[in-house]
Amino acid sequence: MERGGVVSGGFHQNYILYPSRAAAFTTRLHYPFSSIRNSPSSSLRIRHSPCSISSSFIIHEVSRNRCDAVSSNSYSTDVTEFAEIEIDWDKIDFGFKPTDYMYSMKCSRGGDFSNGQLQPFGNIEVNPSAAVLNYGQGLFEGLKAYRKQDGNILLFRPEENAIRMRNGADRMCMPSPTVQQFVEAVKTTVLANKRWIPPPGKGSLYIRPLLMGTGAVLGLAPAPEYTFLIFVSPVGNYFKEGVAPINLIVENEFHRATPGGTGGVKTIGNYAAVLKAQSIAKAKGYSDVLYLDCVHNRYLEEVSSCNIFIVKDNVISTPEIKGTILPGITRKSIIEVARSLGFKVEERNVTVDELVEADEVFCTGTAVVLSPVGSITYKSQRFSYGEDGFGTVSKQLYTSLTSLQMGLTEDNMNWTVQLS
Ligand code: PMP
Repeated sequence: MERGGVVSGGFHQNYILYPSRAAAFTTRLHYPFSSIRNSPSSSLRIRHSPCSISSSFIIHEVSRNRCDAVSSNSYSTDVTEFAEIEIDWDKIDFGFKPTDYMYSMKCSRGGDFSNGQLQPFGNIEVNPSAAVLNYGQGLFEGLKAYRKQDGNILLFRPEENAIRMRNGADRMCMPSPTVQQFVEAVKTTVLANKRWIPPPGKGSLYIRPLLMGTGAVLGLAPAPEYTFLIFVSPVGNYFKEGVAPINLIVENEFHRATPGGTGGVKTIGNYAAVLKAQSIAKAKGYSDVLYLDCVHNRYLEEVSSCNIFIVKDNVISTPEIKGTILPGITRKSIIEVARSLGFKVEERNVTVDELVEADEVFCTGTAVVLSPVGSITYKSQRFSYGEDGFGTVSKQLYTSLTSLQMGLTEDNMNWTVQLS
């Protein structure tokens, strides 16, 4: 095992560098790749540290529950030697799976983020009076890394997530990492967890950046301290239907956002607020909920975690961005791809009545990619849109988008960032 030289609290000592699995240290690791598949033992002994950590990692504090490391971005991801279980990449779903490292960076109110560092993945300590816990002062992002056939790794438009986080931070009175800091932190975290990126075509590594008011407050006010954190998890399809069409129900009672509210930013509170409607819909067998605007109860907004598009006579329409729906990066990309393919795309008010006449309906999002909608139920009426699979237009858009995301096209529109 590798050992790190510790400089902590004024004494020097060698400590073993372990990745943390949740709060407790363990000497066993999950090993996702197939070279151990035929191992006679399901619980292999560790022969090396999880990443061949170079000397640029220095542990500066070790306790039973904590192990921090600083990094200068130079580390090897040659990690093929040990494991506890394997992931069956053919069965991977969209669930959380712990990986080796997370990234953390702090900042005080009015200050700048600095000294970001990788640390073993594990629980974090938060003051019970933290603004994020008491007042929901928090944002999150979501993006994906794909593994290409040639072994390189691609990120899809990470700077767009950075910009969206900065816009959200402004709305939530939080400081935010610069676009460059955000993108570099994402790259560092992905490379440190490279072994968890599914093989080409089997899924992706979902990247979850968080921005939280972690400083303690009691009276309602912005937190005195902020934490930017990134963790990752290998994922497969978001909906259990896979790329098969999903079935939505239009929500009449609950609303996701209000004009002047926070619907247009990715704040954590937006998501807790829709759990109720989503669980009721799922209990009735629907895949998810389609929200209407809260003023007229008439215009389409979006689904719990994706944007919505309708196609009628080869014209593609989607609700316009005006503060109550999330400006999806996949939405933006699909609009650009569709226009480049010659489709007319309209961003406008789309009424619920238009669902009756639509030829195709589909949803877009980082997690769902492009998901065809098979049916939408509105006030007990069910409208169907070819429940067998993609429609002609959505299939074309799906193929173009995923080819770009997975680096299968010559012209990547400058949308992908390659890591190797
Ligand atoms: N709407 C909501 C409410 C979302 O949470 C998401 C996921 N981020 C989207 C739309 C799609 O956005 P993106 O394409 O950037 O993932």
